[in-house]
Amino acid sequence: MKWQGRRQSDNVEDRRSISGGGKAIIGGGVIGIIVLLLNVFGGETGQQIAPILEQMQGGQGQQTEAAAPLSKEDEEMGNFVRVVLADNEDIWSKVFAENGMTYEKPKLVLFKGSVQTACGGASSASGPFYCPGDRKVYMDLGFFEELKSKFGAKGGDFAIAYVIAHEIGHHIQTLLGTSAKMRQEQQGKSEAEANKLSVALELQADFYAGVWAHYNQENLDVGDIEEALSAANAVGDDAIQSKMQGHVVPDSFTHGTSEQRMYWFKKGYKTGDIKQGTTFEEIQ
Ligand SMILES: [Zn+2]
Repeated sequence: MKWQGRRQSDNVEDRRSISGGGKAIIGGGVIGIIVLLLNVFGGETGQQIAPILEQMQGGQGQQTEAAAPLSKEDEEMGNFVRVVLADNEDIWSKVFAENGMTYEKPKLVLFKGSVQTACGGASSASGPFYCPGDRKVYMDLGFFEELKSKFGAKGGDFAIAYVIAHEIGHHIQTLLGTSAKMRQEQQGKSEAEANKLSVALELQADFYAGVWAHYNQENLDVGDIEEALSAANAVGDDAIQSKMQGHVVPDSFTHGTSEQRMYWFKKGYKTGDIKQGTTFEEIQ
């Protein structure tokens, strides 16, 4: 993606040098991009997530350790993330305005190891996620190494851009009330039925990521869309389950298959029309 010299968002909170650096527990339980934890949201607020792992050793109560300076590469990655977030701000502000609404810009928190959020404590092992409670996206960029080495994605900068745009998709669903409505509909449903609603929500976030890419075409490099599709392919529930447990259990899917994830991203990319993100009607 062409990003050098372009506008950077001020809405990135870089906590990488203060959050439990070096103690990341990676590799235990990456269950999908953003194991967005929707299934463990409980309570009336629908905004709490259970802690994903035991509190990290040494991280009890305070996550501040001696600040470790960021490497040049870390700095560059941070700048790239700021540009992608700025692109999302510009594009969604415009799309919302066209539909008579106002886009509220979310913050994006970069961390290493572990992090505290309004949705509870989280670690790198949970993968990038969006917390509706504080309306922030949380990411440990180490996730993308894992995506390549363990899940066979191509990697590349646009894989990261896709994941950011997917998380922003959850923010849009929060602004539009889709997430709250979906959690309400999950009440009293069987686990399989509730999972289907989760799949529809996740695929719609993939669709919104595609819409974002549609409006960002002038900045795309050859191969960018393939990088996004490769990441979407790698994080399909079927791909992950067969890798982790050797077989797939469709009723337990919460994010959709590789094919579905690629399909909805592509649909958003081709149409650029937010009204066509009809995953709730189509996923039965
Ligand atoms: Zn998601």
